[in-house]
Amino acid sequence: MSLPDERLLAAEATIDLTNCDREPIHIPGAIQPYGFLLCLDPATQRVVQASENTAEHLGLAATELLGTGLERLLAPARVAEVAAHFATLTEAAQLLGVRLDLVPGTPFYKLIMHRFDGLVWLEFEPVNDAAPTPPDLSILNAAMSEMLVADQLLTFCQRTVEQVRTITGFDRVAIYRFAPDESGEVFAEAHHPDLAPWLGLHYPASDIPQQARAMYLKNWLRFIPDAAYQPVRLVPGRDPATGRPPDMTYAVLRSVSPIHLEYLHHLGSAATMTISLIQHGQLWGMITCHHRTPRLVSYELRDLCQFIGKTFSALLNSKEELDQRAYQLQVRERQARLFEHVSSQANFVEGLYRQSPTLADVFDCGGAAICFDGDISTLGNTPSQPQIRELLAWLQTQARQDVFHTNAYATLNPAGLAIRGTASGIIAASLAEAPGNYLLWFRPEVVQSVSWAGQNEKPQHLADGQIFLSPRQSFEAWKQLVENTATPWQPLELAAAQEIRLHISDVRLKVFNELHARAQALNQLNTELERSNDELDSFAYVASHDLKEPLRGIHNYSLFLLEDYADQLDADGVDKLRTLVRLSQRMEGLIEGLLQLSRASRLDMALVEVDMNELVAEVMDLLRPRFEHTGTTVVVEGPLPAVQGDRLRLQEIINNLLTNAMKYSDQLHKTVTLGVVGAGATVPARSVDAVHFHIFYVKDQGIGIDPRHHDNIFKLFKRLHAHDKYGGGTGAGLSIAKKMVEKHGGSLWVESNLNQGATFFFSLPKHATTP
Ligand code: ADP
Repeated sequence: MSLPDERLLAAEATIDLTNCDREPIHIPGAIQPYGFLLCLDPATQRVVQASENTAEHLGLAATELLGTGLERLLAPARVAEVAAHFATLTEAAQLLGVRLDLVPGTPFYKLIMHRFDGLVWLEFEPVNDAAPTPPDLSILNAAMSEMLVADQLLTFCQRTVEQVRTITGFDRVAIYRFAPDESGEVFAEAHHPDLAPWLGLHYPASDIPQQARAMYLKNWLRFIPDAAYQPVRLVPGRDPATGRPPDMTYAVLRSVSPIHLEYLHHLGSAATMTISLIQHGQLWGMITCHHRTPRLVSYELRDLCQFIGKTFSALLNSKEELDQRAYQLQVRERQARLFEHVSSQANFVEGLYRQSPTLADVFDCGGAAICFDGDISTLGNTPSQPQIRELLAWLQTQARQDVFHTNAYATLNPAGLAIRGTASGIIAASLAEAPGNYLLWFRPEVVQSVSWAGQNEKPQHLADGQIFLSPRQSFEAWKQLVENTATPWQPLELAAAQEIRLHISDVRLKVFNELHARAQALNQLNTELERSNDELDSFAYVASHDLKEPLRGIHNYSLFLLEDYADQLDADGVDKLRTLVRLSQRMEGLIEGLLQLSRASRLDMALVEVDMNELVAEVMDLLRPRFEHTGTTVVVEGPLPAVQGDRLRLQEIINNLLTNAMKYSDQLHKTVTLGVVGAGATVPARSVDAVHFHIFYVKDQGIGIDPRHHDNIFKLFKRLHAHDKYGGGTGAGLSIAKKMVEKHGGSLWVESNLNQGATFFFSLPKHATTP
């Protein structure tokens, strides 16, 4: 919207809607009629120009005053008093209360004086009371305190507009803030409950012409008590000394552009006051006041408001810094927490989005995406996955820097139009050497987040479309200007993105190094283990193999001795020789066991499809004589499945289990059952899955095994009985069988209680694994 300030009407130019941008607003050659103006030549102190309305105010035509001095209006003592100021006068206004002694019926005026453009300016505002109203210090004090304690820019602005409204009584007081592109926004507002809010409205930069901005930097306050006024010309129109209209930049009565008055009319505003807010010599914004009826605010109150504007300007830096620091702290704190998540998760990607704060919470954005190893995880409002993939492709060819950013993607890539609603603003931090690994932050097109909040008023159609006479038109014009753009990224946000990128690269490098180191250590351990395993195996092999020869020798020689020399020995000697034979036999058995065990682990397996029905039948054929001898019946609960396995080893396993079942029983007639656990059956005491494994069992009704020995019996040379009991044995059988089952990728275990028989289970994978 056009701001409620003026585009002045030059004395001799016709200003219309097409040229008002060039309107020389500082030399309108006219004033507002609520006061009158006299311009004096500083040297002669004679009136050289006067406003035409002296006739209404004083009953004296302007022409009558030209060439006269102040003695035409004031008593000589007062003339001297006023003139005493002239020497020190600058463009900064000075106020005097004056009594126009020589003018009948119009005694009291406020005289506002300044010196500029080679003239002494005397502006007279009528008052009802001769005594100047002193500024109310307690009001000022309250206003200052409110403004000082505000710890955020927004509260600061809010309190300022509230204070100005309390002081002046205007219907609406708002703060307009300018963006770097000079467009504006209603940032804070206090208004009469009957009025619709303007808060959040935006308007284009063109709504305030450059020359007006330049003037607002010099003149802090502009005031129109009655927007329906008729401008009053100066007489003569030009300064006789310069031959041109005088520069009214600092004149309080300066008349404004008719276009501006028309604008005020459309706003429903009958009186306005605006105060500049200046930062670093630039127009930061304005306090604007509106009233629905004409409103004369006293010079003193205007002065107070100007003081508030200047104080606001002085405090602005510190308030903005407070905001910026608070935001920075928030960004840092969230960033630190995000880094904790990233470090505590095994997978850094999950650390970025699983817990709050997520990647999207660190700074203000609409949404974010983590693109890594071909996967895309999104947070908040983002383009769709295919659209993000398109963006990634574009980034890889068109924006190869580590951290790329834009607030108008669609202007760089026409395809961006499709995603401007979520991603007009983009920060893309590339993550790794592998292409397509990015952290992305998105910001929506700015118009998506603002909406017209005012009442629906009739749009004003103007031929050239340049001037917007209603807030709504201004808003629409602004929307067109900011199409396809997002709020720009702040340097601190870009720095945060850069830091997150570096941190993640660091974490990934650290994790990679750790993994690498761990893998190396494992590798080394493995090599060492393999070597010691090999050494152990070959030792067992060599030992058992090499020991067998001499042992056989001892055995044989002992037998010879017994046979050939028994008669030469006494009973004790014979007994000792017999023990020697027995011990050497036993030793041979142990060594044989050790040899078999080492073979079981050393030899490669020859996996073939084995029909277990046939295999069991073969083993039973071999064992038949012993079964018959011991009264053992073996029942096969078939049919048995075919398995992938090494024939010889499977035979040894079955042989061992059946032999044990036969051996470890005191019964005269023994029944042993061999079978396979059905797929649906539950397998006791162990969670073996019958879906992926065949589980065979060999069940006897023999002496059983105390559960505390269930692990021991699988250890090498472990027997629970004297070595000659239950048909003797070395205690190697079960450890060899276990090793062989494990070589097949299965396991061997027992279920048993003392005196309640034993069931040995062994599992074989249905789909053979590589041994
Ligand atoms: P060995 O039979 O040569 O002694 P094993 O390694 O085959 O050696 O068995 C180890 C021990 O486990 C046996 O000495 C025996 O005490 C016990 N054992 C094995 N099978 C059974 C069974 N079916 N019933 C009871 N105990 C058994």
